[in-house]
Amino acid sequence: MASLPVYSLDILHTAMHILLIEDDPFIARAVCAALESEAHAVTWTPTGREGLTALTVSLPDALLLDLGLPGIDGIDVLRSIRAMPAPACDLPVIIVTAREALDSRLEGLDAGADDYILKPFHMTELVARLRAVVRRRRPLTPDILRAGNVALNTVTHTCTVGSDVVTLSKREYALLAALLTRPGAILSRRALEEKLYAPGDEPESNAIEYLIHALRRKIGAQTIENIRGLGWRIRAQ
Ligand code: CA
Repeated sequence: MASLPVYSLDILHTAMHILLIEDDPFIARAVCAALESEAHAVTWTPTGREGLTALTVSLPDALLLDLGLPGIDGIDVLRSIRAMPAPACDLPVIIVTAREALDSRLEGLDAGADDYILKPFHMTELVARLRAVVRRRRPLTPDILRAGNVALNTVTHTCTVGSDVVTLSKREYALLAALLTRPGAILSRRALEEKLYAPGDEPESNAIEYLIHALRRKIGAQTIENIRGLGWRIRAQ
């Protein structure tokens, strides 16, 4: 297979979990690669039925929905989601459709899509639209997340401890952002895994501990507190 194109992406503010329902594997792989390169988790299913199942396992932050799908088509997937109980019914949905399929695009908006994007699309446009629909549905994350002397800029992904700039891996960034977004709250291993990994990823059982350990070495062991048996939290002082 030809190597996937490399896209330069706008940076989304916090790590998101995106569900992609798309039967074209080339498009799906390109979208997954682009989003994962920015530390977002992507779940990909090639059919609507599998997508609806994935939604009930773990509700993503947004859905990218192809309209022309085998089996249940995209419009019916969308109608099913909008008929679900909250919070699933409020899931931000962007439909992906062929340029010539104007009728189905309108039908998608009628059925409750938040936005649509025409194939072929540029990855930067897709990410900008995703960011817009997720923002519309949830409060803005401040650009700088802080706890004590640790600051994380969610636009540039820069972390500083006091005046020192610290370089984080993508997963370390996503982990720290998750903890700083809710300072003082205890986040369980499972909650953190859901933030950092797509359901199919199945991280090693000690993956979160390993990341916490690596992060503590970089930002100071005292900054992240382990609450035995429950999880971790950022010390707010
Ligand atoms: Ca298709």
